[in-house]
Amino acid sequence: MKIRRILAHRVELPLHETTYNWSGGKSVTVFDSTIIGVETDTGHIGYGEVCPLGPFYLPAYADGVRAGLRELGPHLIGEDPRQLVRLNRRMDAVLKGHPYVKSGIDIACWDLLGQSSGLPVCELLGGRYGEDVHLYRAISQDSPEAMADSVAGYRAEGYRRFQLKVGGDPDVDIARIRAVAAKLQPGDRLVADANTGWIQHEAIRVANAVRDIDVYIEQPCLTYEECLAVRRQIPQPFVLDETIDDLGILLRARSDLAMDVVNLKISKLGGLTKIRQARDLCVSLGIGMTLEDSWGGDIATAAIAHLAQSTPPEFLFSTTDFNSYVTVSTAEGAPERVDGRMAASTAPGLGIHPRPEVLGAPVFTVG
Ligand code: MG
Repeated sequence: MKIRRILAHRVELPLHETTYNWSGGKSVTVFDSTIIGVETDTGHIGYGEVCPLGPFYLPAYADGVRAGLRELGPHLIGEDPRQLVRLNRRMDAVLKGHPYVKSGIDIACWDLLGQSSGLPVCELLGGRYGEDVHLYRAISQDSPEAMADSVAGYRAEGYRRFQLKVGGDPDVDIARIRAVAAKLQPGDRLVADANTGWIQHEAIRVANAVRDIDVYIEQPCLTYEECLAVRRQIPQPFVLDETIDDLGILLRARSDLAMDVVNLKISKLGGLTKIRQARDLCVSLGIGMTLEDSWGGDIATAAIAHLAQSTPPEFLFSTTDFNSYVTVSTAEGAPERVDGRMAASTAPGLGIHPRPEVLGAPVFTVG
C-alpha cells in the first residue's frame, strides 16, 4: 500500500454556545478545521483532522496546517501509510518541528492501518478497555453565576467532570471556583484551568483561597519554571498542559515531580503515533492523563475516543467530545455522548465516514 494523494478540506465549525472564552480575553466563535484525506494506490482513503484553538493557544494556526501540508505532502507520496513509525521519521526528516501539521496525516494513516487490517484504531493502539470513557466538559469563561449555571446544565446532561476556564482576575476566579463547586455532588470532579493566565503570586493566592474545595489546578502560568514554583507551594493536585509538548519535557516534569496529571493533546504531540508513546510512558510512570486535542469535530473526536479507550481506565483522568460542542457534523459513525460518556467505534480504522456535502471539494491536493 502506497500513498498516492493527499487531500486537504477546510471546514468551519460554529459553536452551540456561540463563543468559547478562556484566559486573557482569548475567544473563538467559528473554528477553522482542516480535514486531511490520505488516498492510497489500493483505493482506500484514511482521514484525520487538525483544528487549532485559534492562533493564540499553542504555536499552531489554521492556515499553518494547510501551508505545512503543502510543504510536507510531496515528500510522502509513495510511502507506505501503515508503517507509522517509519512514516513519522520521514515527516520529521523533511519538515523540522510543526507537530500539528503532521498530526492529521498520522491520524489518517492510523485510519488506513485499521481499514487494511480490519481492526479498530483503539485495538491497534493497545487494546479496548471497558464499554466507554467518561467525558469532561470545558466551561467557557464567564461570570461566576453564568459558569455555575453552565455547570448545572451540563451536569443535568450527564457530565460529571468539569474544567473551568479561569486565568483571569484572581478575585473573580476565586468566586468562579466557589460558585461552581457549590453546584457539584460527591463523585464529580472539578479542574480550574488557568491556561497560562496567572502570574505566580496570583496562582498561589487563588489556590490558597480555595484550599477547602476539592479542585485540581491546571497550567496556572506561562512557563514550566513558573508552574513548578507554584506547584511546590500549593496543596491541590496539579495538571500541566501547554508546556508539555514532547517527551523531553515530559521526562523532565516527571523527574521534578512537577505534576500529578498531564494533559496530552494529539496535535500538540504530533499525532497518534507520538501521543501513544507519551501515553504509554505515563502509564509506566504512574501519571494520570487528560487525553484530547486542541479542538475539532467528528473526526478529531473519533481519534480522541480511540486513544482514550485504549488507555487503562485508572490512568484516564478525562477526555472530551468536541463534536458535541460544534453545530456541524463532518462524518457519520463518530462517537455520540450518552450520559456523559462516549465509546470508540468497533468498525475498522477510526470507524467514520466523512459527509462529502460538508467537506466540499478539497482546497488543494498533493500528488
Ligand atoms: Mg488545559
